[in-house]
Amino acid sequence: MSFDADEVRADFPILQRTVADGEPLVYLDNAATTQTPERVSTAEKSFYDEYNANVHRGIHTLSHEASVAYEDAHDRLAEFVGAEGREELIFTKNATEAVNLVAYGYGVQHLDEGDAVVTTEMEHHASLVTWQQIAEQTGADVRYVEVDDDGRLDMDHAREVIDDDVELLSVVHVSNVLGTVNPVRELADLAHDHDAAVLVDGAQSVPTRPVDVDDLGADFLAFSGHKMAGPTGIGCLYGEQELLEEMEPFLFGGEMIRHVTFDESTWNELPWKFEAGTPPIAEGIALAEAADYLDELGMDAVREHENDLAQYLLAELEDRDDVETYGPPPGVERSGLVAFNVDGVHGHDLSELLDDRGIAVRAGDHCTQPLHDVLDIPGSVRASFYAYTTREDVDALLDAIEDAAGKRD
Ligand code: PLP
Repeated sequence: MSFDADEVRADFPILQRTVADGEPLVYLDNAATTQTPERVSTAEKSFYDEYNANVHRGIHTLSHEASVAYEDAHDRLAEFVGAEGREELIFTKNATEAVNLVAYGYGVQHLDEGDAVVTTEMEHHASLVTWQQIAEQTGADVRYVEVDDDGRLDMDHAREVIDDDVELLSVVHVSNVLGTVNPVRELADLAHDHDAAVLVDGAQSVPTRPVDVDDLGADFLAFSGHKMAGPTGIGCLYGEQELLEEMEPFLFGGEMIRHVTFDESTWNELPWKFEAGTPPIAEGIALAEAADYLDELGMDAVREHENDLAQYLLAELEDRDDVETYGPPPGVERSGLVAFNVDGVHGHDLSELLDDRGIAVRAGDHCTQPLHDVLDIPGSVRASFYAYTTREDVDALLDAIEDAAGKRD
């Protein structure tokens, strides 16, 4: 491990605050949104304090400075996921919009009756609902790769459902409920053997482990800024340049055009062709700072830290016979999250009880209702970690679960 979580905490002012009745904040809701280091919020503030202007529109100094910083931010994020350069990296509002961009820009063009999209039972609604809608519009089928009892994708089933009818595979890299790290490369190779394109939902993986689009075999990769120590209001879509060149824009307006007459319009070059209207300038610049920050921590070290904490919590919870956990068994690598239920304690009651002690977790279906149907539970409580989470944080959670279980008895 090349960083010390206690030292990392010092970079995040919010972690010094107290909640409830003066309890120190124990923030275990990182799969929903991570906290932001001071240098990232400073980068955003510096934009407003020093060179706030619209991009690509003015000849004046501020506009030039803003444009250069905004364009460079694309290069930085491209580099972060192993893309060639800014042409392959589009800023969106969030991962959801990035998925929708592929759905409307690529899916609608390529799908027809008799075609299929393959996705999985563990998808976030961001993908699952989107592909349902596209299927309705185009007449294509949606096929779901099944999840096995260990919270992993059934690869035999994947081989069955990925055939020549498939135009697109849309797969989540890391499950936001199970913590499973999916064998994306193997799935992508299967899809490519049938000439299908591959969209990877990297919302939970890009923030928590090294991700390289070539290693994954991804033609598209969607992720969000607010889950990787960056600001809200920005996400990214990586797309292979040749595919992006062929695709039609999803949103229309200023910025994305080259030439407009009353009769027709032509599109700007990549990536601006897909960024209609005034883009998330401050957010993009701050997200580039977050990428620098994470690279300095080391993404391998982040992954190791997350897995260590998850294995620790999982082992402790597995020792209790009144707790059910979901996802791969102890010892199998997972991202830094564990979803669970405590017998006789409703998830919302537990999360309220935890909140009284300053501990923030998430209870509910985590935007994966169909997965919860497969698990045959209405919801679960999820504790999720980041680089600044310590063993003491996990112990605080375990103590609180013990107390909650005691109250139930
Ligand atoms: N995909 C996964 C796996 C997620 O966990 C999330 C958010 O929780 C999303 C997609 C959607 O991210 P956003 O809400 O930032 O668009």
